[in-house]
Amino acid sequence: MDKITLSSPLKDAIGGRTAAKLADKLELATVGDLLRYYPRKYDQRGKLTDLASLIVGERATVWAKVIKVTERDLGRGGGRNGRGGGVKHITNVLIGDSHRELTCTFFNQYHWSKLLKPGTDAMFSGKVTKFRDTLQISSPSVAIVSDGRQAEGDGAASLDVIEQFPGGVIPVYPLVEGITQTLVQHSVRAVLDVIEQIPDPVPDVLLARHGYVDLQTALGDIHRPRTEQYLEAARERLRYDEALSVQLVLARRRADARNFPAEPCPRIPGGLLDAFDANLPFALTTGQQEVGDTISTDLATIHPMNRLLQGEVGSGKTVVALRAMLQVIDSGRQAVMLAPTEVLASQHARSLRDVLGPLGRGGELGASQEATAITLLTGSLPAKARKQALLNIASGQAGIVVGTHALLSEGVFFSNLGLIVVDEQHRFGVEQRHALRSKHPEGNPPHVLVMTATPIPRTVAMTVFGDLDTSTLTELPRGRSPIGTTVVPAAERPAWVERAWQRIREEVAKGHQAYVVCPKIGDDDPSAMFEDGSTFDPDTDDGSQAGKRPPLAVNQVAAMLHDGPLQDLRLGILHGRLPPGEKDDVMTAFAAGELDVLVATTVIEVGVDVPNATMMVIMDAERFGMSQLHQLRGRVGRGHAPGICLLISEAPEGSVGKVRLDAVAATTDGFKLAEADLLLRREGNVLGTTQAGRSTALKQLSLLRDREVIERARADSIGLVGDDPEMKQWPGLADMVSLVIAAENQVYLDKG
Ligand code: ADP
Ligand code: MG
Repeated sequence: MDKITLSSPLKDAIGGRTAAKLADKLELATVGDLLRYYPRKYDQRGKLTDLASLIVGERATVWAKVIKVTERDLGRGGGRNGRGGGVKHITNVLIGDSHRELTCTFFNQYHWSKLLKPGTDAMFSGKVTKFRDTLQISSPSVAIVSDGRQAEGDGAASLDVIEQFPGGVIPVYPLVEGITQTLVQHSVRAVLDVIEQIPDPVPDVLLARHGYVDLQTALGDIHRPRTEQYLEAARERLRYDEALSVQLVLARRRADARNFPAEPCPRIPGGLLDAFDANLPFALTTGQQEVGDTISTDLATIHPMNRLLQGEVGSGKTVVALRAMLQVIDSGRQAVMLAPTEVLASQHARSLRDVLGPLGRGGELGASQEATAITLLTGSLPAKARKQALLNIASGQAGIVVGTHALLSEGVFFSNLGLIVVDEQHRFGVEQRHALRSKHPEGNPPHVLVMTATPIPRTVAMTVFGDLDTSTLTELPRGRSPIGTTVVPAAERPAWVERAWQRIREEVAKGHQAYVVCPKIGDDDPSAMFEDGSTFDPDTDDGSQAGKRPPLAVNQVAAMLHDGPLQDLRLGILHGRLPPGEKDDVMTAFAAGELDVLVATTVIEVGVDVPNATMMVIMDAERFGMSQLHQLRGRVGRGHAPGICLLISEAPEGSVGKVRLDAVAATTDGFKLAEADLLLRREGNVLGTTQAGRSTALKQLSLLRDREVIERARADSIGLVGDDPEMKQWPGLADMVSLVIAAENQVYLDKG
């Protein structure tokens, strides 16, 4: 037989039948796959299960001491109790601890009384039932643990000594139907027994620098830990492997990108950018200046820029992006800005036209020589206008193209695309970013700038956007006012809700404007709860929604306000199902101050910028995610007057919903909120699927807790990859990457 290595097929090490099972049920094909299939947790021998925690009706594995064994022979009269086949013999095994007891019952199995002497430690596994006030498990499977040996019998099967776990720490694997603990434990044991010395893919110098154990030790101890300390050392090492694998994928991608040529677009004096800067009504913040310089340099190089621009809501990312676009246009190329909603796309197009003035009217009568043209392309454009827009884009006449997903559709071609700006990335899949990049099939790939206002915890950014260079705008433009957020408990204090409407009237009296945000559009379409078509997020649903009234809808709330508390104010309605032209009209009217109050859905969540709006009232606030609330309230306080945000909610004091709202009210630090939100949503799916089996990319690594490891791995990966995306020097590492990160997730990262 061949030597057994990590890449050997499992059947060579553990036999064809078991291997087929593991392949079929857990997608484990090689020895390496199995050894990277880590225990979900560990049971400590001697630590008995807390019997008080058992739940009737559920399957449980109980680790307990045998107290007493009684046997009963029913003789020939057996089977009276309706058990077909005739019960002739019953063994009752009383197990327990000092607090609780439980009876395990075996039928017609004579050997248990000999094996389960009082004082024996054993694991009993089966469905917990209740019989005359005592808990019991009928016909459990049993694993005896004694003298450091664990033995197992299943039903009538004979006792079979299976395992000896050093240190008494017993691995418990994630299972699926048809796979037992013993099967996995056996297989791992068998594999560890026959495998050759495992070569370590991570260079010694790195292991030594970080004090990590070698791979052989780590894999041994993760499955069969000698002690808790060895287990912890193994975990640390394997956590690093995962972090390093992710970072290697990303580093390779960056190295790849660096090797692509790009059209350099250096800053050209006397062009549109200079004209724009000269007309800016405000001074750039230091951050905007610095990030702008960085981007300007990126654009001037002969490799494509791939940059993520993060910045709090209202930190002024748009200006930064615009300036980048203008620099590219000055080099005779096109720039495109992709926005997540039509409202936002039209707003961008409008404000671009405003700030560029005559410089943005290229092609129109009397426009100046260097002027460019701005073209808007959204899905709702009438056919004729769409055709014209496509023509402008393909001919290169449109220097700046602003649009939504529609830009990704068939039939959109650029003449000379130099820069892609993606605004508000969180609404945009990586897929789309990729699709847009490929809109430029011939010639060199364009530069890419991705902007996000949803603050992404640093480690997540490094992982999900790790192929991008990152810049952050930390300061808000001067004169920006703080937003005060207050939770209004509508159930306990209905009078406060009245006060909220009163407060809107006061703001309007001062010449300001307000938003009222509702979770739903109308009553007629229960599925359209949120603008993105999702209903309630089950991950954050704490059950407090159960049996509650349906969420408040824009149409009803607007009618109620119109007939009641705000009857003398000018109200507008905005949501995703309005005809596009109307959407635009409403937004324009609101921006122009022709409306006092905008009753809206989350369409206004991203990017909408009306500095005169000072107040926001969010209805049924507990129905929104924390980051979403933060985004929403970022729409106010954009001018000189302080912003007010009222979170109206019936979530009772002490409920998870209320706790979340209090957290939003307590801080304006988007990063903190994003971390909290991520924790609540479970971080597992950041990389994709979270099923049992191989596809779970990160088993040991936590993006939130393991920041240091991730940063270390990132630095190491840069050194390892260097300028060699193929990693020819480190074939073992390349193998590790494909073992640790399932192929589909690599693709995901790749497309990032
Ligand atoms: P976000 O980063 O959330 O996208 P925007 O780009 O929409 O923020 O900017 C918010 C508002 O701040 C806009 O009205 C913009 O004109 C204004 N703004 C941007 N930069 C500055 C600055 N340096 N000084 C004053 N106002 C600014
Ligand atoms: Mg923005």
